[in-house]
Amino acid sequence: MESLPIMDGHMHLDPHGPSRESILAFRKRGGTHLIVVHKPYSDIQVLSLKDYRRSYQQTMDLTDMARSLGVNAWCLLGPYPVELVGISHEHGLERALEIQLDAVELALELVDDGSALGIGEVGRVHFPVDKEVQNACDEVMFGAFKGCRIRSCPVQLHTESLRDNPDLMGHIAGLADRAGISRDKVIKHYSGHSMIYPEVNHGLSASVQANRGNLREVFQKRALVLLETDYIDDPLRPGVVMPLDTIPKKMEWGYRVGLMDREYHHRLMVDLPERLLGIDTQCG
Ligand SMILES: [Zn+2]
Repeated sequence: MESLPIMDGHMHLDPHGPSRESILAFRKRGGTHLIVVHKPYSDIQVLSLKDYRRSYQQTMDLTDMARSLGVNAWCLLGPYPVELVGISHEHGLERALEIQLDAVELALELVDDGSALGIGEVGRVHFPVDKEVQNACDEVMFGAFKGCRIRSCPVQLHTESLRDNPDLMGHIAGLADRAGISRDKVIKHYSGHSMIYPEVNHGLSASVQANRGNLREVFQKRALVLLETDYIDDPLRPGVVMPLDTIPKKMEWGYRVGLMDREYHHRLMVDLPERLLGIDTQCG
């Protein structure tokens, strides 16, 4: 029987991380597709648009490296919300916001030339900061939503948790509507299993942490969400947030315990990526 694709919907690569071993372990277990999300790199301090250009290039190079190891990989690019804090210490909040908005535009240009699939991770700071900072984050997110709407490309969000901000999803759905982007193109990364329910997700999409508790709920309900490890490829903390071979292993587990079958697998790993990300995981 022909095997079906297995995708990690949100992970990172680092030039100093054990990328090679991790990608090969992912592939060995049956993993086929990686969504490589841009992250801040320890060796590139980002204080200007030029720095963003360099650090995006690093993500694109790492994505090429993943491809060279025999997996299908696409990257998402965008200014990480927490970087706004660092840039504003140097240049003030107003200038920091301009730089991040320009970084969104740069990422969108790279979507246009086919170098990136969409935007990520943009969003909000996940620890307590001044309201002005979160408002600036919202502006960056809004800029990303508008750009992604025109291109109908996806945008992945990094935000504070729903526990810390129960109104968050309604707030983001409102921003999405104002920008005119289809709510399901907006994907909240690091989601828990509660995000499978419409009253929680407000029609926004979710990328769910692939731990057993989440997956039991997701699989039982046959919910359609991306599955992620948020692997960060950190040389000092290998296997954080989850090892890269987790999703293939968890798919195997799903089959073993009778929560996964080929029909649901197809919807999860073929139909959903096509709808949310615009990719054909069966053609490579
Ligand atoms: Zn991440």
